[in-house]
Amino acid sequence: MSKKDSDIIQHYSEDNSNYYGAVNPSIVQTTCFAKKSTVELFEALANERTTYAYSRGTNPTSLILEKKLAALERGEHAKVFSSGMAAITATLFTILKAGDHVLLVNNVYGPATNYLKYMSKYGIEMDNVFVEEAGEIKKHLKKNTKLIYFESPSTHQMHLLDLDEIAKIAKEVNALTMIDNTWATPLFQKPITHNIDLVIHSLTKYIGGHSDVMAGAVIGKFELIDKIIEFGHQYQGAVISPNQSWLLIRGLRSLEARLNVHQKNVEQVLNNLKNHPKIASINHPYVANEKQKVIFKKYFEGYTSLFSIVLKDDSFESVSKFVDSLKVFQIAVSWGGFESLVFPQFNGKNQEGLKMSHIPQGLVRLYIGLENPDTLIEDINQALDS
Ligand SMILES: *Cc1c(COP(=O)(O)O)cnc(C)c1O
Repeated sequence: MSKKDSDIIQHYSEDNSNYYGAVNPSIVQTTCFAKKSTVELFEALANERTTYAYSRGTNPTSLILEKKLAALERGEHAKVFSSGMAAITATLFTILKAGDHVLLVNNVYGPATNYLKYMSKYGIEMDNVFVEEAGEIKKHLKKNTKLIYFESPSTHQMHLLDLDEIAKIAKEVNALTMIDNTWATPLFQKPITHNIDLVIHSLTKYIGGHSDVMAGAVIGKFELIDKIIEFGHQYQGAVISPNQSWLLIRGLRSLEARLNVHQKNVEQVLNNLKNHPKIASINHPYVANEKQKVIFKKYFEGYTSLFSIVLKDDSFESVSKFVDSLKVFQIAVSWGGFESLVFPQFNGKNQEGLKMSHIPQGLVRLYIGLENPDTLIEDINQALDS
């Protein structure tokens, strides 16, 4: 991580002369902002991206967070929302129209996939395709492909893709590219510097960092984000509260420090699980093949701590026995907080759905928190032995 990022996190876009010299910004908990005249009011309403008029448009506390996120991603502008899904749906709602085709690559976040399936009633098509390398995306493009939407690493399989290559393929057919960069955080991967158009974050995860706040963001060029603000944000109204933004500014302050611990912990856990006789495979860039490691070196500055293992014995009884035997890892969705979590994919009757998403029955997602790594290793080992 560059020195610049540390400075952005701690100080950028904060001005304590605005809040009595307090080292932390104030929570500006207000719905509206009074103006001196009619002219001033209408001027403010005409430019809600930069002027305070109504807190559904711009709020000073939330704007601090937006400026930091944009700077960290090297983007021109960011908009924050009340959840990651709100950021995703507002973006898709804004950039897509009837007749457009969306290409999902190697699975994206499940509810986002479901949203796009639902959008078929508005005439928006989508395909979820699986590729080993970015170049293969070409053969799945259609005449009406408007958007290539992906994660790298991908959800579940943790497969990495070459961002430069995807941006190039998209430019050739005039399509937009959108990456969900939640796993890497803006500290470990900067897709905009590789010509990706839109970056999505679920701030609920590492940036909040304490499992106590939900939010999302989209980052990109002014022109695109302005449109998303005008339509997806203003008209759909999934507004973040100033309180939440303040918690995220606070979470961000320790992001670099926390990621260093997560990285050290996950390496230690993976080193210990690597050759375990009950595990068929592990999905994480740290233990990936050479080709994947080349991509990792090109794009990433570090590892984060979400990965999956595939159990050799993949009956529902065995998978749930392993999960239920864990004592430190808590059984829950989500990740990015202080606490280690486990989330199996097989519920005993969803074999069809898993197959369609290329997810093995025995796949279990593990999230490594900030506990002592020896405690976590001991816990996984005793659960595998049970
Ligand atoms: C959690 C998550 C989301 C959705 O974010 P919410 O804040 O839960 O709405 C989107 N993408 C990824 C990769 C996630 O993990």
